[in-house]
Amino acid sequence: MTAHPLGVEVSCDGPDDQTDCPDSAAVRASFGSMTAPQVRADGRRDGWTSRRSLGRLRDVCPACRASAPSV
Ligand SMILES: [Zn+2]
Repeated sequence: MTAHPLGVEVSCDGPDDQTDCPDSAAVRASFGSMTAPQVRADGRRDGWTSRRSLGRLRDVCPACRASAPSV
């Protein structure tokens, strides 16, 4: 049996914990980006940010980053 990973989707966690991303945005991963770190690297190129909050990683799209309160 060979596993064929479909890659990971990094989707926006919204501007804050209570608010979902209005765009339901997800990183457009480059061809060949299969792991979460690779996909996050693709996202950073497009203006995404990842921040650690309460022990988990929150991914925030450029639109939400603009509307999020600066921490
Ligand atoms: Zn968003």
